Amino acid sequence: MKALPGTQQIAAERSAIIGEVIDGPPSPARDRLRVLTGDRPTGDLHIGHYLSSLKNRVTLQDKGIESFVLVADYQVITDRDGVGAIQDNVRSVVTDYLAAGMDPTRSTIFTHSAISELNQLMLPFLSLVTDAELRRNPTVKDELAATDGRPLSGLLLTYPVHQAADILFCHANVVPVGLDQLPHLEQTRVIARRFNRRYADGHQVFPEPDALITSLPTVLGLDGAKMSKSRGNTIPLRASADETVALVRKARTDTDRRITFDRERRPEVANLLTVGAAFLGTSPESLASEIGDAGGAELKRRVASAVNDALAEHRRRRLELEADPAYVDQVLRAGNERARVVAVRTLETVRSVMGMTY
Ligand code: ATP
Ligand code: MG
Repeated sequence: MKALPGTQQIAAERSAIIGEVIDGPPSPARDRLRVLTGDRPTGDLHIGHYLSSLKNRVTLQDKGIESFVLVADYQVITDRDGVGAIQDNVRSVVTDYLAAGMDPTRSTIFTHSAISELNQLMLPFLSLVTDAELRRNPTVKDELAATDGRPLSGLLLTYPVHQAADILFCHANVVPVGLDQLPHLEQTRVIARRFNRRYADGHQVFPEPDALITSLPTVLGLDGAKMSKSRGNTIPLRASADETVALVRKARTDTDRRITFDRERRPEVANLLTVGAAFLGTSPESLASEIGDAGGAELKRRVASAVNDALAEHRRRRLELEADPAYVDQVLRAGNERARVVAVRTLETVRSVMGMTY
């Protein structure tokens, strides 16, 4: 890993330690872990989500680590004028969670909008940050840049504070993130620390969560930009095998027939190699050397069939779940109930330490 700035370096070191606890034998340290993850319901989840987060969430769950999984519906309107096909999108996201192997009796799947007490935490938390801090948050800047010149909404500006509420309401102490999301998590740590100091006499009402840093690089979409639900450049998990073949064929490559793994000079080819290798369980370098001079068409053929083989079971379960939308809705209702109980308790503590119980 290249040299990182101070806070990132510390976060990376702590992430490595947590990784060891997770991969090690069952232990009290592992029992204490509680993970929060989530997605914005802006469209269908794609292979980037599968590789960078879904698979990993199921692994954590299956190791017995307690997980909260947020369908962040209020965050949909940080950077657009309407909620879009929100019902369909929420259902699609939850369907992919279940198809990927998330067990709703072990992972609490919930939506922002159903948990008033979570959202109420925004008020004390907002008092703990300054507008200058929020404006210089690199993740907010990146998200703003991705909206092609839209004015910054108050909700996007305060995104990191809302995220702090998401993480702290359930006392999550581990948050799987890409390196680009670290500034958000740092903001949560600052909010937890300031809350404890200013409002709780130094008592540890909120733990400072650690990042579990994802090692997979960001998956690029068919147009060469970051694969992203809102850009229409994805290979959705719900695509059929034939659709996947057609989509992968559209992916950008270059004119060099010899396939080599060079992320700097050949980002699109490197991306296909990374995706193919991740689904095959091999390295991008060895996939490249297997393909050799056979060219971009062969690379795409291999990537499409790797995706299709690895996702066959996921897609079979997805079709079953699509046939039973009432079950999917019920999973979400039950998850919301569970999350609400936790949020009520946390808000009660917050009001109590702040002397606001009347
Ligand atoms: P949107 O276009 O609505 O922002 P998105 O595709 O960027 O959608 P998010 O819901 O914003 O998805 O991201 C949820 C999580 O999924 C992120 O924290 C990130 O870790 C992961 N993720 C999203 N896109 C990719 C990608 N292209 N490659 C790897 N991981 C990704
Ligand atoms: Mg995004």
